[in-house]
Order: sequence, then structure tokens, then C-alpha cells
Amino acid sequence: MRAGAPWVFSNEILLTPESKALTPGSLVAVAGDDGRQFGTFYFNPKTLIALRRLDPSPHAVIDAAWFRTRLSRALSIRQSLYERPYYRLVHAEGDGLPGLVVDRFDDVLTLQITTKGMEELLAPLSDALRDLLAPTCMVLRGDVQSRALEGLTSEVRALDGQEAPEHLVVEENGLRYFADLVHGQKTGWYFDQRDNRAFMARLAHQRSVLDCYTYAGGFALAAARGGAREVVAVDSSAPALRLAEEAAVANGLSDRCRLVKADVFEELERLAGQQECFDVVIADPPPFVRARKDLEAGAKAYRKLARLAASVTAPGGFLLLASCSHNISPERFALECAIGIERAGRDAALLRQAGAGADHPAHPMLPETAYLKTLVYALN
Ligand code: SAH
Repeated sequence: MRAGAPWVFSNEILLTPESKALTPGSLVAVAGDDGRQFGTFYFNPKTLIALRRLDPSPHAVIDAAWFRTRLSRALSIRQSLYERPYYRLVHAEGDGLPGLVVDRFDDVLTLQITTKGMEELLAPLSDALRDLLAPTCMVLRGDVQSRALEGLTSEVRALDGQEAPEHLVVEENGLRYFADLVHGQKTGWYFDQRDNRAFMARLAHQRSVLDCYTYAGGFALAAARGGAREVVAVDSSAPALRLAEEAAVANGLSDRCRLVKADVFEELERLAGQQECFDVVIADPPPFVRARKDLEAGAKAYRKLARLAASVTAPGGFLLLASCSHNISPERFALECAIGIERAGRDAALLRQAGAGADHPAHPMLPETAYLKTLVYALN
């Protein structure tokens, strides 16, 4: 905290009987035993991260005007980065708003609130968003698992009694994609891979491409637009593949895209068994390490995925491997990928080590807020 970290763990504070009686989500000022003031925080006596800092001043008033200042700063950063209003507008601690993620789809916003403290502030937060952006709809995606730890219920609903649009357009890298905000995954669209999709699109020119875990076609359509000869996109979810199909048609790319509903591990084993290869292979899976206790099992799964994906990458081809688990470090993930590629009997050169786009800022004191690891290799 003295060095600037914005969290306090429950075993680092001394609770007086009065502070123990505070309701979860209360706003508090925190001071050190030397009397030094650390600012205004929200407090949850039930969680491991007991305090998250909102403001360096112990006297801050957390109202709509306060939110407006934070949100304006976040908005101005995105406006400097992107021409079109499709991006992650708020990335929690990275934007000084712990427990909050807001994705912007033009005039529709999706809000993900993961802490009791932020949930208690929904009224001034939504007032500030209304004031700043006049959205036609705000959808609360309150169905992330971590909400249970904070004593929050799981819910998906639109604010102000509005009807949540099920189907939305996402503009990215000059393409039109579709997101399903209500039934889709996370906040509906994975904005984090935008730059990596553009990078792979350049490599895909006149090559064959396999996009594993395609979801709504993110990498697959970027590759097709980049001039790929043929793109095979695999996912186990039929609704996700329907979104990908629709986007392929909307962008006039369906003649070059084939969508396959399958389990990726099984499909890779099958392709490897038939010695089928692709010039570019992309594997951006769901998180394999959901909690810290899953580290070893998840690391093994990343290793296996790297081995199988490398084995279907043509000689002279390119391989992208990604992890969105904050519970595996970049070093460990890179090590598992390296071992997997080696076990496939391949030599590799690591071309690119990237993370999420700049609309996902990390807090400099919280390395785990930089959760996405995306590695691109050239294989011999
Ligand atoms: N690469 C995507 C994001 C992937 S999200 C993008 O750029 O937007 C993870 C995807 O993996 C989800 O669409 C989910 O349906 C799919 N998935 C999860 N387990 C799977 C499995 N075993 N086989 C195939 N797809 C799977």
C-alpha cells in the first residue's frame, strides 16, 4: 500500500468491533498504524481482498460526479485509440474502477460488476454513464462466478426496465461481427484480441488457416479478410458458430470459411491422425486455470494443446497460442507452450509476445490485471 498497491487483504488489517459490524460494500477511510491516510476504499469483511481503493483522498465523495471524472478519463483514452465506438470502456483497477468492467457497443453498454462494493454504487455509476454517453441500453452481466465470493447473486438484466437487445453489431478491424449480449459469453465479445487478430490477418494472406475456439469468428474472419485461401473454424458451441456464420455472410467471406462444431482436442487429434496441416493455426481457448488450485492440471492442458496445435501446423507455418487465465504467469505459460511444441518434434521461433489491446489497461502494481498472454511462433 505504501508503494501504491490498491488492495488490502483481510489478514493485513486490524478490525475494531465497529468495523467488523460494517455491512459488506461500505465505504471507509483506511489509515496505517503510523496514522498515514491511504484514501477511500470499499470494504467487504467476507472476502480475501477486503479493501479496494477508489480514491487517494480519505474524504472523497463517491457520487455521480466522481464517477463522471473517472469515466471521462477512460473514454478519452479510448477515443485516442479507436475511430469507432466499440471497445472495453472500463477495465476495472486499470481504469481506477475496481470491480467494474464496461464494454461499449456504440450506444449499448454491458456492465460486469464483480464486487459488493461496486454493486452498492450502481446508482451513481449508471447516472454518470447516462450523463456521459446517453446509452440506449445498459445490460448488467452479473453472471460471473466470482460474484458468489462477494455474496452477490447471478443475474442478467437491462437497467431502467429496458429490453436488452439480443443481437448487436461489433465493428473491428474493418469487419462486422455479431455479439449476443444476453446469452453470449462474458460481456458478449472478446475485445482483448483485437490487435492480435489484425496481426494474424497479415500472416494469413494466401495461406490455409485453422482457428480453434473461434467463438463468434473473431480470428477466423480477420484471417479470411486478410486474404486466407481457406479458413476452418472450430468451436463446441452451436450458438457461437451461428454468430460466426452470420458474420461470414455479412462480410462476404462465407465461401472461404468452413465452420466445424467439435471438441478442439478431439478435432486436433483427428486432423493429426490424418496428417492434415494448416499454414496458420490459432488456439485461443477458454481459461484452463480457473482457480489457483487448478494450476498444474491447467498447465498440462496448455502443454497438450500446444503439442497438438503444433502437430497440425505446416512446415514454415505460424502458430498462435493464447491464455486468458490470470492464474498462470506469462513465464509458466510460455514454458508449457515451448515444451508442447518441442514434444511435437518442432523447432520454433517466438515472433510475438503480446497481451490484450490498450483498451484493457493493467494496474502497474497488479500484474494479474494483465491476464491475456498471446504468443505467436514460426515453426520449421
Ligand atoms: N478465440 C475467440 C474467443 C474464444 S472464447 C475470439 O477471438 O473471440 C472460448 C471458446 O471456446 C468459446 O466459444 C467456447 O464455446 C469454446 N470452447 C470451450 N471449450 C471447447 C472445447 N472443448 N472444444 C471446442 N470449443 C470449446
